[in-house]
Amino acid sequence: MDKVKVIIAGPRGRMGSEAVHLVNRTENYELAAVIDHKNGGGFLGDFEGFSQFGQVPIYTDLAQCFQELSPDVLIDLTTPEVGMFHTKTALEYGVRPVVGTTGFSKENLNELEELCREKEIGCIIAPNFALGAVLMMKFSQLAGRYFNDVEIIELHHDQKLDAPSGTAVKTAEMIADVRTEKEQGHPEEKETIPGSRGANFDGMHIHSVRLPGLIAHQQVMFGSEGQTLTIRHDSYNRASFMSGVKLAVDTVLKIDTLVYGLENIID
Ligand code: NAP
Repeated sequence: MDKVKVIIAGPRGRMGSEAVHLVNRTENYELAAVIDHKNGGGFLGDFEGFSQFGQVPIYTDLAQCFQELSPDVLIDLTTPEVGMFHTKTALEYGVRPVVGTTGFSKENLNELEELCREKEIGCIIAPNFALGAVLMMKFSQLAGRYFNDVEIIELHHDQKLDAPSGTAVKTAEMIADVRTEKEQGHPEEKETIPGSRGANFDGMHIHSVRLPGLIAHQQVMFGSEGQTLTIRHDSYNRASFMSGVKLAVDTVLKIDTLVYGLENIID
């Protein structure tokens, strides 16, 4: 059986470097190249911590990489600004994207869904690859059927670029699908410091904490008369995301639509 040819965009990043090692240790995957906007023309092995990847070329130009190598899958772990461009370019060249980069808008997702339909290939965008986090979202959706009052508190390291996190938005969307809509808090509530009640999503509130020392954590708190229910997930390192990345790569090869959220591919 031919190996799955994988390209990783953002290989020096915290998530990207974990993904490089995941691809390397997975028997039927081959790391064909990486996309790095700063170091085109060299080899990944030139960088500290990657000495075993001496032969893996670095491209800056995605189109050139896709034309020369005809890969199967692009794993994108970059920034919200370039993630969309990378994903579109991959689909245009018939390369299946697995996207962990967060910060995609509804319009972005609609555009990519249309492109998948046109090209008849799969794409998986997952704001959170940690299987525990996906279960946390599913359990929260279940709870949202019985509790209308919910506050989402997401906590991340202070280098994160987008807020609220993709996971928090996705959780709010999943709860909104089943929750009876309600504007929470006192009807006459006033913020004496703007932003103190967090972001408002369909009347639910989302709070973003950014601190050094954190990785990725989320707490979903439900309340009703005389009781609260708290559902919490913690990622303590980036290895926690890799089983989800592998599941997404294996799955994207078999589908021909856009899937947003890992919860749609785990039972
Ligand atoms: P990071 O450490 O800052 O890594 C981002 C990498 O992207 C850096 O190496 C950066 O290179 C590179 N990059 C920036 N622009 C690029 C471009 N035009 N072409 C190629 N590479 C480019 O961030 P991270 O913590 O790994 O997170 C990466 C993304 O994954 C973020 O969107 C984050 O929110 C998301 N994330 C997702 C999950 C999930 O489970 N889905 C989990 C954690 C994080 P330079 O530093 O040299 O600019």
